[in-house]
Amino acid sequence: MLEQQGLHRTLRVVESIHGTRITIGGRELINFSSNDYLGLASHPAIAEAMGEGARRWGTGSTASRLICGNTAEHVALEEELAAAKGTESALVFSTGVAAATGTIPVLAGKEDVILMDKLAHACLIDGARASRAILRVFPHNDLEKMESHLRWAREKHPASRVMIITESVFSMDGDLAPLFEIVALKERYGAILLLDEAHAVGVRGAGAQGLAGELGLGDQVEIQMGTLGKALGVSGGYIAGSRVLIDYLINCARSFVFSTAPSPAVAAACRASLRIVQSPEGDALRADLQENLCLFASEMKLSDSPSAILPLILGSEERAMQETTWLQQAGFFIPAIRYPTVPRNTARLRITLSSAHKPEQIRGLVSALKGSV
Ligand SMILES: *Cc1c(COP(=O)(O)O)cnc(C)c1O
Repeated sequence: MLEQQGLHRTLRVVESIHGTRITIGGRELINFSSNDYLGLASHPAIAEAMGEGARRWGTGSTASRLICGNTAEHVALEEELAAAKGTESALVFSTGVAAATGTIPVLAGKEDVILMDKLAHACLIDGARASRAILRVFPHNDLEKMESHLRWAREKHPASRVMIITESVFSMDGDLAPLFEIVALKERYGAILLLDEAHAVGVRGAGAQGLAGELGLGDQVEIQMGTLGKALGVSGGYIAGSRVLIDYLINCARSFVFSTAPSPAVAAACRASLRIVQSPEGDALRADLQENLCLFASEMKLSDSPSAILPLILGSEERAMQETTWLQQAGFFIPAIRYPTVPRNTARLRITLSSAHKPEQIRGLVSALKGSV
């Protein structure tokens, strides 16, 4: 069934991956598909911190945070994250998925209303479903529809909490949420906002600010979510916000309470990554990424992209698969993104750039892309 529709997926074995080079099936390719936007997943100082963390604390945390898994390394990471985000507090989860699915049901229940962007990530949808709140989806970045849902929620459910959930940089499209407008609407209607900065943290704004921090809106976003496995190059997810919010999550977020704490070595690596992202080295990496984005845009005759995610929408699944195969023959690794990750008939190549790409790698990709169409 899935095979007939061109939707069957299989795992490929990565034989080596380092910086922008990936070896699959005995062949080294240039990788344009990772979320390692600043090349930090292979940064020696972060690897060193992880090794040192494992030597100091052991490889595993041995229990949940509420039992004996809450090491000083976790606490320090959360303090540093909160400082980076400019919030009172922060809480780290094993993954971004766990952060979303754990947090949303704590903040919304059966009587409440969740308004969500149509293109929000699967884990945000799962969290909203698990909450059993009334869910209204608005078309992607459609402020008018969002406002009409807000008006409806205030009229029909005056006593309910209303939560807007969206992403700052959209994972499969690379565009931005209109955050000033969303914040203004949320304030006007007394709603709260959960903003998923998975693809913005480390890339947008200074240090680990994300888009909310970049725009000076951090204080107005009640729940700032993000990941530690994308631009930060390690693994994990987080929620940053008020002390009351974090205390509530420590007590009630099931994916936090009932899960073994992330390895202290991972926490140590995240701290090292956060230090780099907030240093002049981090600024230089963001400048390199920006330069690469400008080069790609000018070679492709596109307008500048607001993020490092550059979708090439091809439509049919078959077309996307053919393009992927052709690019692989030409030496570039960009898997096709298909339904259900993206809506039907919007299959695409999701090209991502990193600060670590060399100009000649980008020019090579552009000529391969031009050669195929
Ligand atoms: C990747 C991603 C997540 C999940 O984070 P993981 O750490 O990979 O579990 C959440 N939201 C968005 C928008 C993502 O792209």
